[in-house]
Amino acid sequence: MKYIDQIDMKDKRVFIRVDFNVPMDKEGKVTSDKRVRASIPTINYALEKGAKLIIASHLGRPKGKRVEEMSLKPVVKVLSGLLQKEVTFLDDCVGETVEQAVGKMKEGDIVLLENLRFHPGEDKNDAGFAKQLAALCDIYIDDAFAVSHRAAASNSAITEFVKTCAAGFLLKNEVEYFKKAMVNPAHPLVAIIGGAKVSDKIGLLGNLIEKVDKILIGGGMAFTFLRATGYETGKSLCEEEMLDTACKIVDKAKQKNVQFLLPVDAVIAQSATAETEANVCGVKEIPKDWIGLDIGPATISLFSDALKGVKTIIWNGPMGMFELAPFSKGTFALAQSVADSGALSIIGGGDTDTAIKKAGLSAKMSYISTGGGAFLEWLEGKILPGIAALEK
Ligand code: AMP
Repeated sequence: MKYIDQIDMKDKRVFIRVDFNVPMDKEGKVTSDKRVRASIPTINYALEKGAKLIIASHLGRPKGKRVEEMSLKPVVKVLSGLLQKEVTFLDDCVGETVEQAVGKMKEGDIVLLENLRFHPGEDKNDAGFAKQLAALCDIYIDDAFAVSHRAAASNSAITEFVKTCAAGFLLKNEVEYFKKAMVNPAHPLVAIIGGAKVSDKIGLLGNLIEKVDKILIGGGMAFTFLRATGYETGKSLCEEEMLDTACKIVDKAKQKNVQFLLPVDAVIAQSATAETEANVCGVKEIPKDWIGLDIGPATISLFSDALKGVKTIIWNGPMGMFELAPFSKGTFALAQSVADSGALSIIGGGDTDTAIKKAGLSAKMSYISTGGGAFLEWLEGKILPGIAALEK
């Protein structure tokens, strides 16, 4: 794969596919600029090198038609503020008007195109639509890791029609950290897997077992494993239909000599609310009407000890219902242990990022992936079409 710092961009029309799928309030105000910030190094680099910048993204799921609330227009102010430069908004992403505007651009100019998904060709990875996008540029840069697991015209088919294609710095980081975690990891390599359901993580567990030295299981899914091992777990989450699969995973871990750690105690309550009375008990003693909602202190010690001396940690999924204070301690304590371990730590997918941010430990992690679904599919061992297109 080529990277942005290997190509000459002077006076070239450079199309950057970013992920500006930002959250907005009802008035259309952007409520978090995190995703815009994530691509600023790539954008600034291209500007320094004298490019004419055409920036494109999706926002929400407008399903191939124009939906005003999903316009990227409000992002102009955010982007322009972060870059301290004027950004011109074009109210479409293809067509004559857009081509004319791009034709008039000078070195250092920036345009933000309207939502790519207003056109049905985007999600269909349509060659005709990709050709129209490609007509706007000399160079294509992909910096939208979060959509790499879906082939779209702007991250897949477009690469067939632009001669020079490369990854931006955000994508480069994702690729390099992924390699450090999954391709050539320093051992011991540990996976911490939590979250609600075994069924969501089955692909990932199957793939990780082939690569890691230890797996630590927390969150709601741990109770399905505990049930599969023969324990009663009260009203804790349990996917009955996954019990067999859970047994097979435990057996496979044994066969592969992978240390497979389950919680030994839990924080339990009679309801999943912040005001409820919470107790701690061993996983064999969960009363009938109680729910396990976090790992307990003995499990925190067990898991923290298991992280001592390891070289690489991959973490997906919280250890408990961290959104509620009484059930957040396990996730926060484990985040601290990951931070203290000195290992290379790669975090990603769903709520893990939010939990670590809440614990105030984001800066202590080696890398937090920007991709939810893309990160998970990568851990599952799948080929991501967006990445594959660039590698071609
Ligand atoms: P996931 O998206 O699969 O990573 O799941 C994250 C969600 O799992 C979070 O919203 C947590 O509140 C939830 N969760 C974690 N532990 C438990 C638990 N013991 N019982 C119920 N939900 C849980």
